[in-house]
Amino acid sequence: MGAKQQDTELHHCKFEVPEIIFGRGMLSQVGSCARRLGGRKVFLVSDQGLFKSGWVDRVMVSLMDAGMQFVYFDQITSNPKDFEVEEGAKEYVKQGADVIVGSLPGMPDLSPLEQEQLARLEAMTPAERWDYWKEQFTRCIRCLACRQVCPFCYCEQCLCDRNRPQSVDTSPRPAGNMGWHIVRAMHLAGRCAGCAECERVCPMDIPLNLLNRKMALELKELYHYEAGLTPQEKGPLTSYDEKDDQSFIK
Ligand code: SF4
Ligand code: SF4
Ligand code: SF4
Repeated sequence: MGAKQQDTELHHCKFEVPEIIFGRGMLSQVGSCARRLGGRKVFLVSDQGLFKSGWVDRVMVSLMDAGMQFVYFDQITSNPKDFEVEEGAKEYVKQGADVIVGSLPGMPDLSPLEQEQLARLEAMTPAERWDYWKEQFTRCIRCLACRQVCPFCYCEQCLCDRNRPQSVDTSPRPAGNMGWHIVRAMHLAGRCAGCAECERVCPMDIPLNLLNRKMALELKELYHYEAGLTPQEKGPLTSYDEKDDQSFIK
């Protein structure tokens, strides 16, 4: 092929924009969405956690209402491993399915480095941990990029921006920084999806996701609660039960 021909050759990519439907109660639309895609037999995939949340049952009802055949596959963990995906793909072909219905992954597994950081944090005494975070938060310049990027920080007016009355000092001084980070950590506990975007955008390299993951771990251990599994329930930090563990109150 000559150089002239190469210059005039067209190269292009085409992306089909998928139909996106979201909002309360939209699980009931899964069946009709699958039908609109031209599907005849749905391959419904979830892990055990999602099954226990009751979402899978609601999707099954929606599929039946739409007159869709389906087969259910649960041999995966959240954030499935490659061999689980391969098994699922084989089953999909074997079952003669033509549409896949699944969910986005849950909280991602910790990388070896994150596991190491978390283990180091957990090994500290409370006083050492306090000093560690105090040192980290001192560097915060209050650019609020972490808040802006977070899909779960969507308040019309952030508590930390209010000045009548003012809840948290807005200037990047140690006391205000500590206040901001305590508010952020408590408000995101039970909502954070572990995407780590807050940490990625932080210009001061503050390990925000380490704090997010530590909070998620505490909620799991203390209240057996994981973000996103039971969205109809109030999170443990916004509800109270007399039987709640209160040993941490000194
Ligand atoms: S890791 Fe959590 S707190 Fe950070 S941006 Fe993602 S959802 Fe928000
Ligand atoms: S930090 Fe709290 S008040 Fe501020 S936007 Fe996030 S969730 Fe809302
Ligand atoms: S992105 Fe980093 S520097 Fe900016 S407010 Fe958040 S923690 Fe502070």
